[in-house]
Amino acid sequence: MSSCKLAIVIPCYNEEESLPVCLKAVWNQINSLIDNNKISDDSFIFLIDDGSTDKTWELMEKAHELSGGKVKAIKFTRNFGNQNAIFAGLKAMKHFNVDAAITIDADLQQDETKIEEFVEKYKEGYDIVAGVRENNDEYTFCKKITSELFYKLINWLGVKIKPNHSEFRLISSRALNMIDMYRENNLFLRGLFYELGLKTAYVNYEIKEREFGKSKFSISKLIKLASTGIVSYSTKPLRIIFFLGLIVAIISFLMWVVTIFVEVILNHDIRAIEPFEIWESFISGVQILSIGIIGEYIGQILIEVKDRPRFLIDKKLF
Ligand code: UDP
Ligand code: MG
Repeated sequence: MSSCKLAIVIPCYNEEESLPVCLKAVWNQINSLIDNNKISDDSFIFLIDDGSTDKTWELMEKAHELSGGKVKAIKFTRNFGNQNAIFAGLKAMKHFNVDAAITIDADLQQDETKIEEFVEKYKEGYDIVAGVRENNDEYTFCKKITSELFYKLINWLGVKIKPNHSEFRLISSRALNMIDMYRENNLFLRGLFYELGLKTAYVNYEIKEREFGKSKFSISKLIKLASTGIVSYSTKPLRIIFFLGLIVAIISFLMWVVTIFVEVILNHDIRAIEPFEIWESFISGVQILSIGIIGEYIGQILIEVKDRPRFLIDKKLF
């Protein structure tokens, strides 16, 4: 018998349509890995109900029963967001003594047949194996552009995360112990796993269209995640506004010199010169932007200082 005990961790928010299909597909993968002696037969599925308002939890209860406990689950008191749901699932792994856990979305947009490859990489000695999507055909034009910009920006800011990878990844028990030490509330898992500095492998996969239900990520949730990602892992934006301020101050000084020259020496009314007005509205823009950037950092400090629980568990099935 193989010694690798594997858990598949799946965050679910109103996934009553996807969940049955997902469980079947993932279960098939687990069974064939067990049959081929790649993982041990006490491997299991761990579900997190992130405050669903549909029948998701009822389905989880049924799956738990029918599987004889091989499908385990927790239910949050309310929606805490995808990052917290995944984190809760990974934290729960300490009860089960697993060798590795794989997180995957409930909509099976990520290719679950790659799980075998993930396990092989783990056995080669990688602590993290991350799935990288090699196509984005199912993305809208807007999502393609914003996703690309986000990865460019965050890399430029010094957080060298691999573009186009999502929450489809394997995490070894060693890495699971390490993430337990992170106390932050504003979670950005892609940044966190990069931070660990562990040996990471990448596996390409083709992203599929979501077959059942709708995307649970609204634009506002995506913006919040992107902002958390940047603010949590880089203070460079603060330095950028410092230098922006410096440049603006220098240019303002030069314009002051020009003003004196034009008004006193040439005796012209400077207000009649348009560039000066454009410059003023530009400065207003820079100021509001800068306050906004500082505000993002202050907001995150506030949330961290409060140190509220990242999630609250209502029910457990394990
Ligand atoms: N999800 C969650 N909580 C949320 C939003 C999403 O647990 O508040 C789960 C969702 O059920 C799915 C995964 O996170 O399993 C990815 O969400 P989704 O497929 O909607 O995102 P997209 O693929 O559109 O980025
Ligand atoms: Mg999806």
